Amino acid sequence: MNDPKLNNATLASERIHARLAAAGRRFHANDNIADFIEQDELRDLEDEVTAQMQGLLETLVIDTRSDHNTRGTARRVARMFLHEVFRGRYHPMPPVTEFPNAERLNELMIIGPITVRSACSHHFVPIIGKLWIGVLPSEGSNLIGLSKFSRVADWVMSRPQIQEEAIMQLADMLERTLKPDGIAIVLKADHLCTQWRGVKDNSHMTNSVMRGAFLRNSSLRREFLALMSGKGK
Ligand SMILES: [Zn+2]
Repeated sequence: MNDPKLNNATLASERIHARLAAAGRRFHANDNIADFIEQDELRDLEDEVTAQMQGLLETLVIDTRSDHNTRGTARRVARMFLHEVFRGRYHPMPPVTEFPNAERLNELMIIGPITVRSACSHHFVPIIGKLWIGVLPSEGSNLIGLSKFSRVADWVMSRPQIQEEAIMQLADMLERTLKPDGIAIVLKADHLCTQWRGVKDNSHMTNSVMRGAFLRNSSLRREFLALMSGKGK
């Protein structure tokens, strides 16, 4: 890296930030930035997040020295963010092997319910839900194993998300990978930010995205929705 801005940056977050800016890439909370993080930098980033989290605990006037419960909290939260609940932001996409549609399948496939876990970008509070995916393969589509749908969904959801944007991102990813005639996604989720705080009610949010054949063909859409609701809540 010859960019003086990068050489002078001592913090991993500053270096990653500068690379993103140099590439003109968006780095919203629900964007994956793994391509801009170099080897071993995640470890530096973990140290940095730990230090900032420790500062947050101190600002919240919590005595982490004598309170044995919060003594390791800063490190635990840093690890949880970077490697668990937000790993879809810092880690690359899990490997998904595609294979050609040798049998030329062109019947509706429904995958779900897949349990998804995410967090809202507004409050960093969990979103837990169920996801259904409908795929209408074309003869030229790629197919992927059933378990891969859950892996890709988990990778997209393991970021600070907004439900409407999450299913768009998932639909984009599946369209690019499978090249199907149509893709349909329904997500029903509980948002803990309306249950744990705010209005404190137990409402769910359901939203859907329909593309290609699902958008054009209302009977296909109805078939998907009917089969999906028969597959459990
Ligand atoms: Zn929220």
